[in-house]
Amino acid sequence: MPDYSRMEQDNVNSYVASAIIRVAQDRVISDVASATLPPSVGSDASVFEAAPAALGIHTIYASASSSREALSRVEKWELQAVARRLLPAERLRVCCISVVPDAPGVKVLHSPSRSSAHYGGLMRCSSVWVCPVCSAKISEVRRGELERVIGWWRGCDDGLVAMVTLTVSHGRHDDLGALLAALRRAFRSMTGSRRYKALFEDYGVAHTVRGLEVTWGYDNGWHPHLHILLFMVPELNIDSMEDEIFAMWSAAAGRVGLVIDRKHGVKLQATTGAIGDYVSKYGKGKWSAADELARANSKRGRGDRFAPFDLLRQVAFSRESQFADLFVEYARVFKGQRHLVFSKNLRAAASLLDKTDEQIVDELHEDAVLLALLGEREWAAVRGLGLRGQVLEVARAGDKAVLGDYVDAVVALWLTSPRTTQSRLEVLRGAGRQAAVLD
Ligand SMILES: [Zn+2]
Repeated sequence: MPDYSRMEQDNVNSYVASAIIRVAQDRVISDVASATLPPSVGSDASVFEAAPAALGIHTIYASASSSREALSRVEKWELQAVARRLLPAERLRVCCISVVPDAPGVKVLHSPSRSSAHYGGLMRCSSVWVCPVCSAKISEVRRGELERVIGWWRGCDDGLVAMVTLTVSHGRHDDLGALLAALRRAFRSMTGSRRYKALFEDYGVAHTVRGLEVTWGYDNGWHPHLHILLFMVPELNIDSMEDEIFAMWSAAAGRVGLVIDRKHGVKLQATTGAIGDYVSKYGKGKWSAADELARANSKRGRGDRFAPFDLLRQVAFSRESQFADLFVEYARVFKGQRHLVFSKNLRAAASLLDKTDEQIVDELHEDAVLLALLGEREWAAVRGLGLRGQVLEVARAGDKAVLGDYVDAVVALWLTSPRTTQSRLEVLRGAGRQAAVLD
């Protein structure tokens, strides 16, 4: 949850108005005043009153205590809008905004088996690093892949999966590009060494999956680091393995001018048999070892550490201007970096298809049914009012009539909203889809 107490009132208002208005067929709160709002919001209800009156349908305001999952689903659309403003030259600018050429409109699709909804016919950026919308989808699929290879390996003679985390010491003012380049050089130097290969042979490491991630903190600045899952034979005692890797990592880092400290430089977690348990025990929404790797860049920062999408939240809600610069720097440096790297043959051995990020974001669920086809004006209204996430929340119920009512109400609201006059005129004049990039 965002820290409402730290937001400025205007930001809170627009955030709440656009992020958490949603329809719940079975939870009708007709009296908006009785709905629970986050503490700092209640005093200024003008923004909120307009919506339900104009929407004319059952609308509730999700409070801080109501569905966190719904909030998080909607929030990624809000954060994407923030990222788009920061990176106007990236493909992100058209992601889930522009309709693909020759498409009849924007499809709103519903997947009954998952009770989920998504759009079809929209351009995508497929960036796992900077796009909260694409990243959510890619990460979900990658997490499933990790679960699958981990399960497969454990099923192979009770194979052991352990995780090594490699970090380097860094300071508040270190340049992320230079730090990441050095980290990668050190990693190549270590993994290319005969000693490292011998270690893998000694411990029976057959496959690996490497994940790259980064956080930022006030004290020590950027913190790029690597997680490596080791798929190894179970019989050996791996207690000494961490020390051996530390010696190699320390030497390799030294060669590229980096410093490693023993406490943080290398961490080996031999989560024998525990990784699968993590997943089933914590389930959806909790972080397991698989999540840690696959969803690292959407992870909320712990303490004073910020994951990349936390930086976007800070851009939206804090007074500090540095967060925009930090996100832009991160986007520049991480562009083109590989997110998860499966070692050669691992996918084939585990019967896993090799899907690119682009294939994942373009994939539609097999049982997807068309709930609505939004025309230019409807889509302009949804975008103009910043309700792309909310439309999908409504669509999750799979009810065409309810969705149709909602979209009609959104268009009516848009037609009367003073904030969208210019963009509305462009659409009404038939200025074309590309000219009407609104939100
Ligand atoms: Zn995207």
